[in-house]
Amino acid sequence: MMSIEEIQELVRPNIRILSPYSTARDEFDGRVGVFLDANESPYPSGWNRYPDPRQKNLKSVIASMLGVSIREVFLGNGSDEAIDLVFRIFCTPGRDNVVAISPSYGMYSVSADINDVELRKVLLNADFSLPSDRILAACDNCTKAVFLCSPNNPTGNIFPRETVCRLLEEFRGIVVVDEAYIDFSGGDGMLRDIEKYHNLIILRTFSKARGMAALRLGMAFSNPYVISLMSMVKYPYNINAETQRIALETLQRPVDGQVSEIVEQRKMLEDALTRFSCVRKVWPSRANFILVEVDDADRMYDFLISRKIIVRNRTKMDLCRNCIRITVGLPEENGKLLKAIEDYEKGYIR
Ligand SMILES: *Cc1c(COP(=O)(O)O)cnc(C)c1O
Repeated sequence: MMSIEEIQELVRPNIRILSPYSTARDEFDGRVGVFLDANESPYPSGWNRYPDPRQKNLKSVIASMLGVSIREVFLGNGSDEAIDLVFRIFCTPGRDNVVAISPSYGMYSVSADINDVELRKVLLNADFSLPSDRILAACDNCTKAVFLCSPNNPTGNIFPRETVCRLLEEFRGIVVVDEAYIDFSGGDGMLRDIEKYHNLIILRTFSKARGMAALRLGMAFSNPYVISLMSMVKYPYNINAETQRIALETLQRPVDGQVSEIVEQRKMLEDALTRFSCVRKVWPSRANFILVEVDDADRMYDFLISRKIIVRNRTKMDLCRNCIRITVGLPEENGKLLKAIEDYEKGYIR
């Protein structure tokens, strides 16, 4: 188990000594007053005032819904912001490195490239399980973080808690577990473990089950020290006022009904896809998408495009030859997909 002092030693020296930008309204908490501090327009337009840089209301609702402290919550402009902050906080460009599983979410390597940080890819096992030993073997003294994604995109599988805990115990650096799809998994994920493992950062998002991809709102959960670093390095007003307002509003409405319909439709699709002879394998999924190995991914992808059905061709990714990733849609959309694959199988040329 890593102590907070050990986490502190992982932080880039320039970030460790950073003092936070204090925003105009940091010292005053009230809603009403005469605000002559931030050079805003005094004319009410609905948006003339800067938003709350600490997102206090939204964070406190999220914290109580998930049973964590508000000091353990970071909100970002999508989880993508939180991913980028991990690099900016912990990795000295041109020197440090991170390790990430492959195939997985593309943003980890995009962020690594942008920050001039080496990303060491470790292939999943052939059954997409976590190769803990090879991950540990890929790490050296300059490895600041390991990126995991569970349920993993695009493979759809979840990594057992015990396996991830072993990594948290044996790796002396940050372990990021991206749980963007956790709501579809039927499990609780690893949020509870941030208390015990100070090197754990959990990522979640409003973009998938919450249905708010357009608003750009992601969450990171970790111990208060790591969260304070993220809050210090982020842009002060990273979550705009409308996003904060609409997110608060939509949290009043449960999405359980939508999530269970998607899980039912996923099962339906898995069963239906298995019956096609052009389908070689349907990987079991704990997310809102299914990875399917087909006879010829490029050909099927083009055929589906010709039917105005857009799926994700993953054939070029590690371990994903001839695989396409299909997002579970509305029942009628899934029906159209199955009809189109039926036509593809019959050899229709468009
Ligand atoms: C979709 C997705 C996200 C969401 O990113 P946002 O920036 O919050 O929209 C994060 N991680 C993974 C693995 C994803 O597939």
